[in-house]
Amino acid sequence: MKDISIMYHYVQIPGLKGIFPFDPKEFELQIEWATKHYDIVAPDDLNKPRGKKPYCVLTFDDATKDQYEIAFPILQKKGIPAYFTVMSGPLLERRVPVFHLIHTVLSFFTDEEIWRELTARFDVKAVPERSHYYSYESSPFRRYNKYALNFHLTEQQSRSFLEEKALSVFHSFENFINSYYINEREFIKMCQAGMTLGVHAAHHRPFTGDAKAFYDSEIEPCRKFMADRLGVDAKWYTPAFGGGTQAERMMKELGEVLRDHGFKGAFTTKSGFNNGLDSFWLHRYDCISLPPRSEVPWK
Ligand SMILES: [Zn+2]
Repeated sequence: MKDISIMYHYVQIPGLKGIFPFDPKEFELQIEWATKHYDIVAPDDLNKPRGKKPYCVLTFDDATKDQYEIAFPILQKKGIPAYFTVMSGPLLERRVPVFHLIHTVLSFFTDEEIWRELTARFDVKAVPERSHYYSYESSPFRRYNKYALNFHLTEQQSRSFLEEKALSVFHSFENFINSYYINEREFIKMCQAGMTLGVHAAHHRPFTGDAKAFYDSEIEPCRKFMADRLGVDAKWYTPAFGGGTQAERMMKELGEVLRDHGFKGAFTTKSGFNNGLDSFWLHRYDCISLPPRSEVPWK
């Protein structure tokens, strides 16, 4: 069977500059397209007897507020189930992963402004030449900023710079986290409405290579947070950054650890079809690679 899963991140009105949101109108059109060709099911139902259509699972990463405020009401209105993932670190430790701080800061300040400040505060002379890693970014300052913040500066340097900028917009971390992420009360509401919740990460780190240690540091704290605070026994997992550079090794070594802890399956960032729950690691298509944004390649 040619089942599919669709991967969503931000679903919101374009306009914020640092990120690539999927327009709510496009989202609705995509749901209509998917409903026509697939039975949209919760992950738990992938094994159930099926009708004529293949199955489709809608998956959401990173638990940003737009998913609750925009995507969830659309799904609820249409009576469609979906799978959302929880990132426990920001909610529990009030600490935002650096990549989300970057999204925020690039959304609220101009690229020139950020680059000027970085130049004034750090030695970033080597950055312009090395920044072709981000050649898909058309603005040179955007390239420099992303390279400097993600690779050139230490995590601590990036974090303190970005936190200071984010605080100048949101005034307190409490306010930032409350505006940026789905909170506990909202997750519980989503559950009550029939949405599935799974584990994304504690701190959004890529796979480290040591499956047991990675489970203990990135997965178990989030699973426990969900059990204690949301009353959810998590059975589904979506690795941060799809596992990162060691994704292949993750799929070989982490699956067994997850199964031992009662997980039923996991959603990767690799595109491709699925066949029920034949494989523990399920493929996903990015929403932008499907209609209405793009023509389906296999039709
Ligand atoms: Zn993520």
